[in-house]
Amino acid sequence: MTIVGKVRCCNNAPMTTKAKILDGKALAGRMREDMRSEVAQLTEKHGRAPGLAVILVGDDPASHVYVRNKKIGCENVGFASFSHELPADTSQQHLLGLISELNQDPKIDGILVQLPVPDHINPETILEAIDPNKDVDGFHPYNIGRLVARKPALRSCTPYGCMKLLAETGRDLHGLECVIVGASNIVGRPMAMELLLAGATVTVCHRFTQNLQAHIERADVVVAAAGKQGLIQGEWIKLGAAVIDVGIHRRDDGTLTGDVAFESASKRAGWITPVPGGVGPMTITMLLANTVQAFKTHIGE
Ligand code: NAD
Repeated sequence: MTIVGKVRCCNNAPMTTKAKILDGKALAGRMREDMRSEVAQLTEKHGRAPGLAVILVGDDPASHVYVRNKKIGCENVGFASFSHELPADTSQQHLLGLISELNQDPKIDGILVQLPVPDHINPETILEAIDPNKDVDGFHPYNIGRLVARKPALRSCTPYGCMKLLAETGRDLHGLECVIVGASNIVGRPMAMELLLAGATVTVCHRFTQNLQAHIERADVVVAAAGKQGLIQGEWIKLGAAVIDVGIHRRDDGTLTGDVAFESASKRAGWITPVPGGVGPMTITMLLANTVQAFKTHIGE
């Protein structure tokens, strides 16, 4: 899909831009197809399929949907998936006990605890209890540290997926001005480390940033992950920039949208991700890729 718009450049001459759509759904489909054949070969060679354990505590409806999609994704590529659905009043001790068992279980290559966990459970304690070699979400401080130290092991799935989408532009990121909006542990911060590793000049904006617009206006790459619907106005986008929209918001009519004003941004950007169908499918795909990687490490492939 291509969106064509007319803009005027600095000398006021009309200019036409064509924002190419970075189609995460299609890319994820291709990657999963490749993974399916690799997993079939690995399973035949080693006598078992990669195993992913997914733990869900409580009954948050959105979390149930995410876990179901991850389970379907696992089964589609030929993994063995193990679901642990625990009641909301599960104690932290009990959860730590389950993680310890899964850490020791030879059939399990990846462990994922769906966030958020109920308030009486400390998410950091839980994430740090997972064996870093089975941390397929890439959230463990060991794996974050490996990325910081330029020796990535298991990488955080959403930023990793954003890097795959940026690779689709064919642009060399060395020296480009990349602006990330959002500084969370699971998206903004590891995204900054990914882009730095790729040689970009990186700016991280957050809730205390002054004049967000000025940062966006000079960005060759924008990664929007503030969790604020329509925060990034299309008029702010530099002509030809690559725009990756991580945000997910449900409108009143049930449709999904992101942090970027898509229609107006498409008239200035060189590339843009849609919501849905951009970053979302890539996040689950990178979780699957991490599980294959963890399996190979586990069996010494
Ligand atoms: P978060 O709430 O943990 O972090 C948001 C960050 O944005 C914070 O660092 C905050 O300082 C910053 N921020 C908030 N308002 C801002 C503003 N006005 N200007 C600049 N910065 C601002 O959120 P998160 O978990 O990182 O998720 C961000 C968004 O990405 C959410 O919409 C979430 O649903 C979505 N998400 C999508 C995927 C996916 O696979 N597509 C994965 C993870 C998160």
